[in-house]
Amino acid sequence: MTIEEGADPRRAELAQRLSDVRGRIAAACVEAGRDPAEVTLIAVTKTYPAADVRRLVELGVHDIGENKDQEAAPKAAELAAAGAAVRWHFVGQLQRNKAKSVVRYADLLHSVDSSTLVAALDRAATVHRERPLDVLVQVSLDADLERGGAAIGAGVPERDLERVVAAVAESESLRLRGVMAVAPLAWDPRSAFDRLAEVASVIRRDHPDSTVVSAGMSVDLEAAISAGATHVRIGAALLGKRAALR
Ligand SMILES: *Cc1c(COP(=O)(O)O)cnc(C)c1O
Repeated sequence: MTIEEGADPRRAELAQRLSDVRGRIAAACVEAGRDPAEVTLIAVTKTYPAADVRRLVELGVHDIGENKDQEAAPKAAELAAAGAAVRWHFVGQLQRNKAKSVVRYADLLHSVDSSTLVAALDRAATVHRERPLDVLVQVSLDADLERGGAAIGAGVPERDLERVVAAVAESESLRLRGVMAVAPLAWDPRSAFDRLAEVASVIRRDHPDSTVVSAGMSVDLEAAISAGATHVRIGAALLGKRAALR
């Protein structure tokens, strides 16, 4: 243990958890015959303080995920003021009225799921950003739109997957980079992520830059990696169990 870790037990705990998660990712890559360099670990720090984000950055994790703008915006400001190199991933359901805030700090927005949200984000990014915003379209695999995502043949036109993909592709200031999904609760995660991989490859035919597949959380990262995930979003396994479900 270094002196720093001795002085900061939380940092030592995060270092241990990080090493465990990296070990799981490495093992899953061996199993799948993949190079671990193809898999980006995103630490989902929701409900945990900016101090933990700083510790993770010091430990070499620069991809940080948040799911609520009112929590993410002040953390991003605090880390920017400290000069920390962070790539911010926004992974939560997003209301249109938050677009203006999120486009200012997000580096990759994982949860684009309606054509009206695309329009709001495009307007906001055009005004408030110098560079286009990279986005993923969130795919609802079971078409339960309450839990977020756009679905193939969704009854609600603005949530139709093809329509959302087309809206991003036609936007001025958003760049389509791929897809994201959360495995539906009742599904076997492997079949969920295989299905996502199929959707991703169909989208890639028309949009070759859509190479990102964001899939896998603490409980199912192995299944996601075996199905080809390029980004895993890990909260509890890295930071500890959150106090309340949110
Ligand atoms: C919270 C969250 C995660 C991380 O989940 P864990 O189970 O804590 O690993 C991943 N993706 C999204 C969209 C989340 O909201």
